[in-house]
Amino acid sequence: MNLLDELEHAGLSAQGEEMHRLAAELYPLCRSITGNGLRQTLAILGKRIPLRLTEVPTGTEVFDWTVPNEWNIRDAYIRVPGGERVVDFQRRNLHVVNYSVPVRATMRLSELKPRLHTLPDRPDWIPYRTSYYKEDWGFCLEHNRLLALEDREYEVCIDSTLAPGSLTYGECVVPGRSPAEVLISCHACHPSLANDNLSGVCVAAALAQFLAGRDLRYTYRFLFIPATIGAIAWLARNQAATGNIQHGLVLAYLGDSAAFHYKKSRRGDATVDRAAAHALRHACEGSEVLEFSPYGYDERQYCSPGFDLPVGCLMRSFWDSFPEYHTSADNLDFIRPAHLAESLRVCATIVNILENDRRYRNLSPYGEPQLGKRGLYPPGGGVSIARDVHARLWMLNQSDGRNSLLDVAERSGLPFAMIMDAAEALRRGGLLSMLPDAADAELVAPGDAKRGRQQEN
Ligand code: ZN
Repeated sequence: MNLLDELEHAGLSAQGEEMHRLAAELYPLCRSITGNGLRQTLAILGKRIPLRLTEVPTGTEVFDWTVPNEWNIRDAYIRVPGGERVVDFQRRNLHVVNYSVPVRATMRLSELKPRLHTLPDRPDWIPYRTSYYKEDWGFCLEHNRLLALEDREYEVCIDSTLAPGSLTYGECVVPGRSPAEVLISCHACHPSLANDNLSGVCVAAALAQFLAGRDLRYTYRFLFIPATIGAIAWLARNQAATGNIQHGLVLAYLGDSAAFHYKKSRRGDATVDRAAAHALRHACEGSEVLEFSPYGYDERQYCSPGFDLPVGCLMRSFWDSFPEYHTSADNLDFIRPAHLAESLRVCATIVNILENDRRYRNLSPYGEPQLGKRGLYPPGGGVSIARDVHARLWMLNQSDGRNSLLDVAERSGLPFAMIMDAAEALRRGGLLSMLPDAADAELVAPGDAKRGRQQEN
């Protein structure tokens, strides 16, 4: 099944609009690594895709970490005593340092200043700051707003709670014929920021919706989790099950206009690394494959040496490389429906490769079989027909039982989908047979797959 054709039929640009609508719905919520903003986010996602929620209680040890107190916030402001709010959480949730402890005080500006974070180089933007693991408080504001504050006393209020509760994450499993899994993970813990991280959340949700109900080779597990501690908590609770993960992608920063970047897994030569590199080569000018580094997002956890899972990270811009990163300028205007749609298409291209990367054997390997008499070498024709024929010749030549479709796509420089179409045409023409390959050997018999599915349900 060519998933890319199916995605086109489903209407890609409409899906871009839909993803942006979802981002707009989620944008106002004050998310964090725990708390009700994260739960509300998962509840909204749960209306679109079947999501199983897990609550991990405060104090639970997860490898070297401990699940922290749960944070919730209702209001926060700095105001002239009895007067107007000069900084107001109700206007922008970025105004409060995320995870701030509760505060009620009156203090002079000079006393307050060390707790005020601004960006002097971008005086109209609000920075995004957190203090998850050290009890602290503070405000973030536009530098110009700070410059306009009079040196006088202010009332300071942060109406938050930091108390035992739990950490929440959401999991959506799209079953395939085999319990062997593809892991798709995105972090869902940032407040009103769009590219980081709502774009990843929206593309992951759209991909889950698109794959649901299709006849799939692999089972797909989507994780919507708070960054770092969420991935570590999930790994700690599912250590044995990680043996099923054959391929994985972390999705982040997928709504801006930059070219695509794919960061390889720690292994560097995993099938998903090759599939992503191939997808990017044919996606757009300037796309780049980056070597693994132990910095970035949750691929850091999945690729820690104890797990060493084949999980890479797909991005457009990458962390810290765009000025809007972790500021109020990373808003709903910064991400566009067309960019989200193109990101979904690249994800589907990678998934299409994972699903269909099979090996074939040429059934007529002595000399070139006569394609014309089988309707596989149309006379005349334009460029696209020439490319089709080209793909068929590559498939016939390389199908000695050792090379997979991805091998042939890489060697020929032709897109995987074109090689896949060529293989199907040649198979129908009686010139190729599909072989079970190493990946299939790891997949279980249909009866076992059914049992695996029932367990998931
Ligand atoms: Zn971030």
